[in-house]
Amino acid sequence: MVSNKIVHLDSLQFNVAGLLTGPKGGTRSYELYIPVSELDQLDEDFDVIAPFQGRVRFLWTNDHIMVMLTGATRVSLRCSRCLEPFEQPVQVHVEEAFIPTVDMATGLPIHQDESDAAILIDEHHILDLSEIIRQSILLALPLTPLCKPDCKGLCPICGADLNTETCSCSTEEMDPRWSALSLLLNHLDDEHDHPH
Ligand SMILES: [Zn+2]
Ligand SMILES: [Zn+2]
Repeated sequence: MVSNKIVHLDSLQFNVAGLLTGPKGGTRSYELYIPVSELDQLDEDFDVIAPFQGRVRFLWTNDHIMVMLTGATRVSLRCSRCLEPFEQPVQVHVEEAFIPTVDMATGLPIHQDESDAAILIDEHHILDLSEIIRQSILLALPLTPLCKPDCKGLCPICGADLNTETCSCSTEEMDPRWSALSLLLNHLDDEHDHPH
């Protein structure tokens, strides 16, 4: 039997010279296990706290390398209601065309007009997944991070974390100075609902 050897890689930079010099339709597939140390400097808006585990496949089409990347990690976010840090799982699934900047046959630079630097294969034939992973993680983050769907948040008056404690700022225990006004408003409401 042929052993099915899986290549585990722990870097986001790939030398794709072999693929670029090979025939159109050439592919490479890798299992990825990217340690936190490679990920935690990606972006100051999130902290990666687990290795990125997934797989990547490269397909050479003769003018670009199609990259199919899937995987998962976890980031630390701060809850928008109670402000406590919590772990958010993040799934990444991205397809992106990476463009060579050097012609392998002639060694001459290939002129690129308005290409995003994130998807250019550099002059040393290094394809770098860092930027598309960073963008994918950012896109996968919730706009309103919540530690749990029913997070009770902080009391707007005393700042108590209502998930772990109760405070005495409830509307029932209103400042007595407001009680007269409250009664008056209730009375007006009644009159409005039931005009004489
Ligand atoms: Zn919360
Ligand atoms: Zn309170």
